[in-house]
Amino acid sequence: MDECIFCKIAAGDIKSDIVYEDEKVIAFKDINPAAPVHLLVIPRKHVPSLLEIGEEDKELIGHIHLVLQKLARDFKIDRSGFRVINNCGKDSGQAVFHLHFHLLGGRPLPQNLGGQ
Ligand code: AMP
Ligand code: ZN
Repeated sequence: MDECIFCKIAAGDIKSDIVYEDEKVIAFKDINPAAPVHLLVIPRKHVPSLLEIGEEDKELIGHIHLVLQKLARDFKIDRSGFRVINNCGKDSGQAVFHLHFHLLGGRPLPQNLGGQ
């Protein structure tokens, strides 16, 4: 995926503040943080959105959640609490079409999940 910014980050072609990586996933700090802790966890594999996850990705999606759990502990937001967000499609405001999970914490988060 030549034009995908997150593929470029995963390949090391665009610099990012990487906080975790292994053979399947990479995690880095969001460039425009919405909370004191704001990380993005992505598969190295290009999957455009949650809608394109397939049967073959079940293990990968489970693995991403274990990485989210580890990062919540590493960044010491496991006890205070945190939020995991996936935006999918136009109405969610998804801006980058490479599957990613936001990990947010470090302060009380807004309760109006639907916005407005
Ligand atoms: P979404 O709206 O769910 O697609 O979120 C995309 C997120 O990617 C936003 O929170 C951006 O701030 C973040 N982002 C975009 N470009 C970069 C980058 N080069 N490095 C880190 N985060 C980025
Ligand atoms: Zn990509």
